[in-house]
Amino acid sequence: MSYLHCHSCDWSQDDFWNKKYNPLTKIWDDIKWLWKPKIIKLDIYTMNELIKYTHVPIIRKKTRSDYKAFSWNWFILELVKEIRIFFQQKWWTWKSWKKHKDIAFCPKCKKRNFDID
Ligand SMILES: [Zn+2]
Repeated sequence: MSYLHCHSCDWSQDDFWNKKYNPLTKIWDDIKWLWKPKIIKLDIYTMNELIKYTHVPIIRKKTRSDYKAFSWNWFILELVKEIRIFFQQKWWTWKSWKKHKDIAFCPKCKKRNFDID
């Protein structure tokens, strides 16, 4: 997996997609994990970052170190996250990036200071 980002600003995109890793496989993984109605434990930091990113309200109950939420509520958040990521993805595949990297510029700051981790 390769993660493309800009060193001149905070722009980044998801790892390049392929047959095994793409929006549909990620949503399918979410369905497998969250389809059954249940209460799930969530890491506070991850939860807060995802709520900020998606603006999806989560009904949650605080435990000693984490929070618990209803799986379907979390699924909606994951779905919104994947849709946002989908629309932010500039170069879908490694092949597409290789083809455009010499003429590509950052969608946010318009500079050419990319890095791949
Ligand atoms: Zn940039």
